[in-house]
Amino acid sequence: MRKLILTLAAIVIIAAPFPARAQSQNGRGANGAPKYVFLFLSDGAGAAHLEIARQYRQHIHNEGMVIVDKIMKEGSIGVMTTHAANSLSTDSAAAATAMAAGCKAKIGALGVCDDGTVAVSAMEIARRRGMKLGLATNSTIYDASPAAFVCHVPNRKDYPAILRRYLEMAPDVLFGGGLDQFLAKGQPGSQRTDDSDPLAEFAKLGYQSARTLPELQRAGGDKVLGLFGLTEMSFELDRDKQNEPSVYDLTQAAIRLLHGPRGFFAFIESENIDRASHANDIASVIHDYREFDRAVGLAYEFYKKYPRETLILVASDHESGGLGMTLALKDLSSSKGNNQVAGNHSDFKKLQAVKISLQQAAKQLGSNPKSEAVDKLMADHFPGFTLAPEYREKIVNSQYLSRTIFAEPVANALGMMVANNTQIYWQNTAHSNVPVLVGALGVGAERFKGYYDNADFGKKLKALLEGKKHN
Ligand SMILES: [Zn+2]
Repeated sequence: MRKLILTLAAIVIIAAPFPARAQSQNGRGANGAPKYVFLFLSDGAGAAHLEIARQYRQHIHNEGMVIVDKIMKEGSIGVMTTHAANSLSTDSAAAATAMAAGCKAKIGALGVCDDGTVAVSAMEIARRRGMKLGLATNSTIYDASPAAFVCHVPNRKDYPAILRRYLEMAPDVLFGGGLDQFLAKGQPGSQRTDDSDPLAEFAKLGYQSARTLPELQRAGGDKVLGLFGLTEMSFELDRDKQNEPSVYDLTQAAIRLLHGPRGFFAFIESENIDRASHANDIASVIHDYREFDRAVGLAYEFYKKYPRETLILVASDHESGGLGMTLALKDLSSSKGNNQVAGNHSDFKKLQAVKISLQQAAKQLGSNPKSEAVDKLMADHFPGFTLAPEYREKIVNSQYLSRTIFAEPVANALGMMVANNTQIYWQNTAHSNVPVLVGALGVGAERFKGYYDNADFGKKLKALLEGKKHN
């Protein structure tokens, strides 16, 4: 109880408005801190996700990647450990808390440290300095990763508390899915059970609202609330490109709205990389990674204009799926060489034919689909792919595949079918403890070099924003 009171007291202190400190009009902010900060989060992406996305782009489109070729080669690279305070494989809440606030947290906790204290987040420091703030994600806007940069809530599922904190902190840009928590009770699609009306409250604070890509591109003014769907936003393979913005479009709008003399801190996330990994959907990982990389490209162009004032960080919060391209058997008849197959460029060619996310494919099939429906799906969406009898059986019966592959049975069985055909295999449908990469370019990038823990990432970022020489 005492801890809770302390926590609440700390929340009140943090919630109090900060005096905006003067920023230099041109050049860096106070004490050599960056004036423009981009933090890009590829949720769930380990080095294998990045490498498979890179190799695919290289072999299929003869394109490089901004993250690798610009940020990591011109800037610096860090290797970051990701464990939570009470688990060696983290969730997004504990990981984002460490990265935002510089303290270890328990699974599920947002902006609350393991010892019950509340640490000021990097974004709260940016607010103190008078910088504009932006949160953009293709997840729900109240999801753990963006929320941890602003909120101090012991339970990541306490969405009403997250929205209250957003109203209190009032970031200048809020883009994502999750309209369901913003609609008042009784409105179609609302998930609220209380009597509040968040959309009306945001409007009262002067937020313009956007629900589609054209509306986003037209939106102006000081504050914009963009909510592009009731829940999570679409995978690239399924997205309606006329109406629903991608993470690239969100980034473009965020830069336009945030850029100004006050400087900004923009948090931009592709949660779709993580969601695709939970579904074991490598085609979605590749396509959503590409869009994320294009978004980083916008920040890189910005950096080229303001190289002495800008910091770009590209990081992941954890690895998801235990992913890797490997050598595998064609079937279980023999382990001899002629029954072995190693991952190859031709596997990427095969993947190119997939035009639907596995979640969408699973949705089309529904649970316990007939075998003929499975045949039709294979013919329509997976040309040249074969479906092994054991996975057909899992799909028809909606059965878990194994003790580690159980998140979405139909999608996961299709994921294993894709693996059999491309040699890109998944070990699990959850998060692993594999360290992740951090790319950094611009003001203070050298601090993110080396091997460190995610709580140290948060400490480095906070020290930099506070104008401290060391963390
Ligand atoms: Zn996840």
